[in-house]
Amino acid sequence: MLATLRRIVLEFSQEAELQTALERMVYRVKKAMKTDCCSIYLADYHQQHFVLMASDGLAKSSQGQASIGFSEGLVGLVGQREEPLNIADAQQHQDFIHAPEVEEDEFNAFLGTPIIHQRKVLGILAIQQKKSRHFTENDEAFLVTLSAQLASAVANAEIKSLLNQQQEQNQGVKQLYGIPGAPGIALSEIIVCQPQADLAAVSLKKTIDKQKQLLRFEQAVTKTRLEFNALSKLLSESIDDDSLAIFDVYKQLLEQANLGQEVGAKISQGWRADSALKLVIEHYISQFEAIEDSYFRERASDIRDLGTRLLVNLQQQAKEELMLPNEFILLAQDVSASMVAQYQHQGLLGIISLSGSNNSHAAILARSLGLPAIMGVNANVLSQLHQQQAILDGYSGELFINPDDGLIQEYQYLLSQEKALTDKVMAVVHLPCITQDGRAIEVLLNAGLSAGFEHSTQLGALGIGLYRTEIPFMNRHCFPSEQEQTLLYRKVLQAFPKHGVTMRTLDVGGDKSLPYFPINEDNPFLGWRGIRITLDHPEIFLVQVRAMLRANQGLNNLEIMLPMISGVEEVDEALRLINQAFFELKTELTQDIIKELMSASNEDGHLSVQQAQVKAQTVSAKLVRPKVGIMLEVPSVIFQMEALAKRVDFFSVGSNDLTQYLLAVDRNNSQVANLYDAFHPAVLNALNNLAQQSAKQLTPISLCGELASQPAGAILLLAMGFDKISMNGHNIPRIKWVIRHITFEQAQIILEKTLTLTTAKKVHSYLNEQLETLGLGGFIRAGY
Ligand code: PEP
Ligand code: MG
Repeated sequence: MLATLRRIVLEFSQEAELQTALERMVYRVKKAMKTDCCSIYLADYHQQHFVLMASDGLAKSSQGQASIGFSEGLVGLVGQREEPLNIADAQQHQDFIHAPEVEEDEFNAFLGTPIIHQRKVLGILAIQQKKSRHFTENDEAFLVTLSAQLASAVANAEIKSLLNQQQEQNQGVKQLYGIPGAPGIALSEIIVCQPQADLAAVSLKKTIDKQKQLLRFEQAVTKTRLEFNALSKLLSESIDDDSLAIFDVYKQLLEQANLGQEVGAKISQGWRADSALKLVIEHYISQFEAIEDSYFRERASDIRDLGTRLLVNLQQQAKEELMLPNEFILLAQDVSASMVAQYQHQGLLGIISLSGSNNSHAAILARSLGLPAIMGVNANVLSQLHQQQAILDGYSGELFINPDDGLIQEYQYLLSQEKALTDKVMAVVHLPCITQDGRAIEVLLNAGLSAGFEHSTQLGALGIGLYRTEIPFMNRHCFPSEQEQTLLYRKVLQAFPKHGVTMRTLDVGGDKSLPYFPINEDNPFLGWRGIRITLDHPEIFLVQVRAMLRANQGLNNLEIMLPMISGVEEVDEALRLINQAFFELKTELTQDIIKELMSASNEDGHLSVQQAQVKAQTVSAKLVRPKVGIMLEVPSVIFQMEALAKRVDFFSVGSNDLTQYLLAVDRNNSQVANLYDAFHPAVLNALNNLAQQSAKQLTPISLCGELASQPAGAILLLAMGFDKISMNGHNIPRIKWVIRHITFEQAQIILEKTLTLTTAKKVHSYLNEQLETLGLGGFIRAGY
């Protein structure tokens, strides 16, 4: 049964035309369930009714014509109750409505299940039978499982078919939705970047240029065949003949008579080479996976592997052809922070990621660069959007493809308003961040996700509150050496010679991985991450700390911060290593200086060993042990503040992770993005508690998560008593403006009331109201 289910869902998602997919699906379900009729209805929210889209059993003429209101008939009842309905004699049911046009008089038994995606009823799947009887529990379970699996495919298919129509007509505005990732607006052409060959991500697309597609495919086959020859030759000495035979299987499959011919046939029907390949490979996979024999089932992965290799070579050609226009919006399946960094100086105006959420590091980087971004846009649309004109609204998460003149004008007006707001806040950029009644809060910079922090001194930052060291580790093939790190950190420290620079030790894991240090885990955010990795690898930690200390010589503005601390043992161990690095380095430096001085004294004979030692000690005294602090981002620290305060010099709250761990919501998962909210009462109360506890311990506290860069967030943090807040350079002037336009007393009143509210929704509406009252309404759209 599982294989049947899988095959039906796979076939459905492979079909480019929604109508054909629905028709094939009802036929398959009717057959699989050995019943007399299967129908699917899709919800039209505009008209408030379900439309009979496809049926195998009801009158063909009613397909696409017949409809039933949301609160009418048995179909409406399934939609309203959002649960299956299993009735032996449907015609006798009080809600049954007789609709002669569908010709269902001979059917009695009825089983309907809702198709629900992200809490929204998308349609109803129903089976009927002439014989009056209750469908079995197994039937019910099958239909419920099928509906649940079909739900996201139906949601995506809606978009797929919509885009296909758009290609044919090439007119009309189309709208897609995602999660607002970074505020702002971009009007430009979309460029799709496909970093990894993934058959599942290829969207089905037709073209008129059949000859070119055939040639592309043939070239990819030739290249793949050559690669197999080279691979089997290379491996022939190290693996046995049986294992090598797999290359022969691959090569046979590649021959024209097999797979090649089928792909060629699909290309002749008008499919693009990658679409044709996807269709054929996925068809093979579904056939192999449906076979009971495990040997054949496993062959499905060989086919997938072969298909992926062919796709890599096809996409390689496409990449070579990719020309970047002067300005563009970048779209990719999974936009990473390093991808954003790569394109930031090449005309990048905005970002669309099909995966990720508003606190993924790509979104955080986009915000720091002032680039609008939308995350978690519905999948399967990738290549169809390539080179389409679009408006990206990073405030609302809307994406308009092929916008008309009216919409463009509307957005151009919003852009001009946005610019006016930016110009206005720039007026306070060099003024202190102080409330109207004289309460100060320091505003610092978050840096490290990209180069460019040097300019931020002009944005009025009083130093760096969080320097993320991961990116320099990411865009490479191996760990950077101590010398390389020293040079880099020196530059960062020199950019703010008069202010503190808080450098965080390596925080990889979670959604930040190193290509040369792969970590495969089921729960990466709960796994080997941050300090857990670096304490397990002191050789990596010590080299980084030594590089920071060396870079700090003579500047003395370094502060070291430890990420992902969950308990005191981690702090003790990290401090032990930091002290070890410090004393080793100090000894090395002293010895180097003595050696240097001694060799100089040998020449002129003026310096004794004791004199050289005294001098060396004075010089090496320039190597100062920096302050060490920890990030408060794992909820366990809330209950260990006293013990932690005894060990460290400062605290900095990572509200991005604190929110994720306190609410148990993956910050990177668009499926649960609506639950991730730093304004959740539990998070705000935890922050208030942390501020109070650190005040009691006389330990300075700052906050460097995204909450600090939101106007309402900054007001609450000020009132809670945070000493410093740290944010991306783009938001510093806005936050200064907000703080300079309120009083501390007003902030305290707002906080007091906010902490009594019981839901995030109530918090948002109350804070929006307060911002309006304070005359800061213009900021609601711009970042809160
Ligand atoms: C945080 O967790 O709030 C934080 C500042 O660190 P990161 O976003 O890099 O995890
Ligand atoms: Mg964090």
